[in-house]
Amino acid sequence: MEMEKEHRSSHPRLVLVPLPFQGHINPMLQLGSILHSKGFSITVLHTAFNSPIPSNYPEFGFVSIPDNLSEQLISADDLLPFISLLNLNCGVPFQECLAKMVQKQEVENEPSIACIVYDECMYFCDAVAKYVKLPSIVLRTTSASTYLSRNAILQLKAEGVLNSQGTSTNIQGAVAYLISALESLFNIFYLGSTSQDLVPGLHPLRFKDLPVSKIGTPEIFLQFITNIYKTRTSSAIIWNTNDVLEQPSLQEIQKQCEVGIFPVGPLHEVAPASSSLIKEDNSCITWLEKQKQNTVLYVSLGSVASVDKKELGEMAWGLANSKQPFLWVIRPGSVDDQEWKKLLTEGFVEAVGENGCIVKWAPQKEVLAHGAVRGFWTHCGWNSTLESISKGVPMICKPCFGDQRVNGRHVSQVWRIGIQLENMCERGEVERAIKRLMVDKEGKEMRQRAKNLKERIQLDIREGGSSYNYLNKLIELIMSF
Ligand code: UDP
Repeated sequence: MEMEKEHRSSHPRLVLVPLPFQGHINPMLQLGSILHSKGFSITVLHTAFNSPIPSNYPEFGFVSIPDNLSEQLISADDLLPFISLLNLNCGVPFQECLAKMVQKQEVENEPSIACIVYDECMYFCDAVAKYVKLPSIVLRTTSASTYLSRNAILQLKAEGVLNSQGTSTNIQGAVAYLISALESLFNIFYLGSTSQDLVPGLHPLRFKDLPVSKIGTPEIFLQFITNIYKTRTSSAIIWNTNDVLEQPSLQEIQKQCEVGIFPVGPLHEVAPASSSLIKEDNSCITWLEKQKQNTVLYVSLGSVASVDKKELGEMAWGLANSKQPFLWVIRPGSVDDQEWKKLLTEGFVEAVGENGCIVKWAPQKEVLAHGAVRGFWTHCGWNSTLESISKGVPMICKPCFGDQRVNGRHVSQVWRIGIQLENMCERGEVERAIKRLMVDKEGKEMRQRAKNLKERIQLDIREGGSSYNYLNKLIELIMSF
């Protein structure tokens, strides 16, 4: 034990800077755990907003930085302006904190900081790292295909298909009313395509699957992707994906990228500790224990997406009418109406009986690994997609915004392990999709493909696999700084 400590303190320190949202904190802390197991000391520099829970990672150091942000629920609508504000507010306090850490390490002979690993959305870190003369590495927490499709959007802008306001340069006046819906602009103006047409070079994405945002002005969105993709001084890019899932996209990106990319995912498979910001309700595991093996549909839309009262009702009755047992996560704040609970009492409770369980937040990885679970109705956040794939669970995809559409399209069309709900959520469509996945032969075939993919991923993270090899190469690179 003592020897292990000695060995650890001789290894350099890594400073990790996560974006303070669940879907970003998880992969960053998982990466930290993996690198800690290889001997590095880990310090997490984080905002006061949505601060991670240090007791989940007693082996890490945590340093909180004032961010001037009020503790509030951030909806998808507020996300991009919030990230922009975060980057404006955090630069100075992070820089001061890092400068002190560097000074202290010299005086107190602490392990030296080898580099800063920051979430792609915390792009202010690039300048901070430069200022304190430390190397930096970017962690991308979305899929490689999302990167390529966002790049395609930037290209449309560069080619003049969009001007800086996101409007068409050709027919500007006629489309003023469409400015706030960037996706409509792509659909209508790019080569006269409709939303169903395939985007050239991005098979199997249609224009409607592009990860554009309807939120705020197109300018905010274009600025956001420009900021996260701007060429900076970082020495490498770590990616929470792998060759099994995305080799063609990764190869394409490596051709475009001046620095090495390291697809070392899925990180949660190598570092399973929880970094949940919301208390997990373990009673759902007790409920799962009482269900028959391989029968339950798990339903969750992640940590940010929300639904309106009407959609919630359609989801509820689709689930009830399907007669399949379900475990449903309804996160506080995820329904736009305080009165939503009434919807789930009027006849719904009687219709469902013991066949359903609703919780505010679940230990998702444990749920997906449970033998009772047969399918996952997901919003296709990248973490949820990876967690489902690595447990061999096929999906019903109901993407809500941004990269979720790209992920959903890959689940249904590339890996063919899920069904995408295409239209507005309507109870008949929901019921049919559930039966297709849970009962029909089609669902059985998807389950078999999901199992095969899971096995390939398990091999990939073991000795000799590509994820495993990339991790070793990443460690070599960090040790060379
Ligand atoms: N999650 C969880 N319990 C829940 C719902 C979600 O622990 O009840 C976790 C899930 O395992 C995943 C993360 O929250 O790691 C959500 O990330 P994702 O990228 O799927 O979606 P986002 O929340 O960023 O939209």
